[in-house]
Order: sequence, then C-alpha cells, then structure tokens
Amino acid sequence: MQVLEKTTVLSNRIINLAESATLKMAALARQLKQQGKDVINLSIGEPDFGTPEHIKEAAIQAIKEGHSHYTPVPGYLDLRQAIVQKLKRDNNLDYTPNQIIVSTGAKQSLANVILSTVNPGEEVIMPIPYWVSYAAQVELAEGVLIEVPTSLENKFKITPEDLEAAITSKTKLFVFSSPCNPTGSLYTKEELRALAEVFARHEQVYIISDEIYEHITFEGKHESIAQFDFIKDRVVVVNGLSKGFAMTGWRLGYIAAPLEIAKACDKMQGQFTSGTCAITQRAAIAALTGTLEPTYAMREQFKQRRKLVLDLLNDIQGVQTYTPNGAFYVFPDVSYYLGKSDGNTTIKNVDDLCIYLLNDCHVSVVTGAAFGNDQCIRLSYAASSEQLIEALRRIKESLAKLS
Ligand code: PMP
Ligand code: GLU
Repeated sequence: MQVLEKTTVLSNRIINLAESATLKMAALARQLKQQGKDVINLSIGEPDFGTPEHIKEAAIQAIKEGHSHYTPVPGYLDLRQAIVQKLKRDNNLDYTPNQIIVSTGAKQSLANVILSTVNPGEEVIMPIPYWVSYAAQVELAEGVLIEVPTSLENKFKITPEDLEAAITSKTKLFVFSSPCNPTGSLYTKEELRALAEVFARHEQVYIISDEIYEHITFEGKHESIAQFDFIKDRVVVVNGLSKGFAMTGWRLGYIAAPLEIAKACDKMQGQFTSGTCAITQRAAIAALTGTLEPTYAMREQFKQRRKLVLDLLNDIQGVQTYTPNGAFYVFPDVSYYLGKSDGNTTIKNVDDLCIYLLNDCHVSVVTGAAFGNDQCIRLSYAASSEQLIEALRRIKESLAKLS
C-alpha cells in the first residue's frame, strides 16, 4: 500500500513568509517576563508614553455619540479633510480628500499600496537597512526585492548614484522611510532633491515615502520627497498616528496618493478590513487638528535619551555608532563580536548575538539581519532613562564575556 506523506494545509505563501522580527523579539521578551525574569525590552518600536488626554477625550465622546457603525471604507470624509489640512500645515503639500485613504495602521497602508501596484517579477528597490515589513509585503506580492547597500559613514543613506545604478526597466517601486526605521537617519531637502532628480529620469518608478516618524526629529526638520512637483504624481506618502501621538494600539495609518492608487487601496481594503475603527477615526481628528505640544514634549524626552544611549554605547568596546537625527532607534555595528564565544555559545551572526543578549542579560534587541544588514543590531530607546542605563550596563557586561 502506498503511504502518502502528510502534507500541510498551509499555502506556500504563508510558509515562505518571514515572521516579523520586531514582533517576534517583543514576544520572546514578554514570554521571559512571564517566567519571572527581569527583562528590558528594547526591541519593539513604540513610544512608552500614554496617548495625549485631548485625544482620549475625543474617543470617549465618539463612543457616547454612538459612532458604532461601519464608516466609509477610506475613512470619514471629515477625517480625510483633516488629513488634507495637516499635509498643508506640516508639509506644504496639496491633496484632495479623495486622494487620502485611512487604514488600520501604516502597516496596512503599505500593504495596500504594495499589493495594489507590484506584479509578480517586478522590482522594488530599498536602501539597506529597510523596515522589516516592507520586504515581507513585497514577497507576498511576488515582487523582487532589490537591496541597495549603504554605509554607516553615510548614516545609512542611499546616494543618487547608487539609486541610478539599481533602477532597471523592471523597477516598479522605491520604498524608504525618513526619519528611518531602523537607523533614525533623516534625509535633508537637498538629499531628497538629488534622489528626486534621478526618479525624474525614470517615469515608470513610483515612490513610497514612509513619513511615520516625521514629528520625531532632533536636528533639522522632516522633509517630504512629495514636495518636488516634477515627481509628486508618482509619490505615495505614508503616515499614521502610532509614533507621533503615542497611539500604536489605536491602529490608524493613511496614505496621500495619486488618485489611481488611492482608488485601488480603497478597493483592496474594501475586501480585507472595511476600513479602520470608527472611534479611532474620530479621535484621529482631534490628534491631527489639535495641539502638537504633547508630541514635542515626547520628542524632547527622546532627544535626551538618544544622548544617553549614544554615550553608553560609545563606552562599549568594539561597538560603532553614528548620530541618528530622528525616530527613536540606533543601529550600531557590532560585527566586532561575530565569531566570538563566551565558552559555551559561539556568536556566528547577529541573530545569535540578539538571542545571546536576551538569554544572558535579559535585554531584547532586534537583529540587523531582519532589516537586511548582518553587521548591526537595532535598539529602541523608547524606554525610561533608568531602563536604558540598566540595559546598556547589562549589554556591556555580557559583551565583555565574549572573546
Ligand atoms: N512604518 C515604519 C517605518 C514603522 O516603524 C512602523 C512601525 N510601527 C510602521 C510603518 C507601521 O506603523 P503602524 O501600523 O503602527 O501605523
Ligand atoms: N514599527 C515598530 C517596530 O519596528 C513596531 C513593530 C512592528 O510593527 O513591526 O518595532
């Protein structure tokens, strides 16, 4: 009798999909914590502050007013109008409400755009390091990821020459974030103009500009690549409330896009989520039209912590840093420790180093490999100064055991 091999019910799509490394490390940290270990979690990128009071009040009001029904799929019209005004106020960009699609977090906004534009085999260019989920979403769309290396000396920013060399007739998208997750790097207006001039020569290439950290900048201000009129009709701006307003759990992101792409994303989420939560949408209007004082107060805290973390990292042998100008991450080069051992465990790669740190000193950080870079690790400094001091003390001690 022929014995049939047991096969899985799962699709190749999900089997081949990489797990989110940021969420995985955060889950491992949570598990260890539940076992009673004193874990410091520097892996997940989310503000450790509460949502500002006026936004919470707007949500309570929305519940009381009975905002408990489906909303228009792309979001309430008055919310989309508030987003249009915000884009004018903060970025001097002109859009109409039908170019705005509100989604369940910037993560879904990105997925909508990538799945709506990329055909199997089409190329998507990303500077390394890129945010984890970009690569996974391109894989789901069966696109081909084209990685462009950058250097720590250049603060991990892509040059116009490298961009030009990466573009082919199959290039569909270019995806990047500024301020960048995982490096905290911030592109200046001049740097963006130089990239825009390259895009001007390649009319088939669309650009996803992830601006979710726009309010968290320390030197210089955030600039959008959509400001260059000669390419604006090929730029999709992605933004959201998670970072600037400490609203990760509320789940609201949005795009400002060429009309054709906006319509496609509306259709896409009409089949997947029917749009995001009504209460969150009402609260978002308060966030986007209200005071930015709480946001600036958070930014000030992040700035102080950045200095603290850089000072402590610079005091660890073999760790190479640079000064990130935005977001709340630093992406130090730790390749000095690769191949070393504490007598029991050999650190073959940066993944091993992250697991070693988690087990040895109970500090959770994320492997650079998940962002396309196998020499670095990502630390989020969205944690209290006390936690950061203790975490860096432990990391220093654990690394010192490696030889
Ligand atoms: N883009 C970047 C660069 C991010 O770091 C994140 C992480 N939150 C997102 C998009 C997704 O944000 P959210 O889905 O919480 O709006
Ligand atoms: N964006 C955050 C991070 O990079 C949150 C986790 C996630 O959404 O993957 O850590």
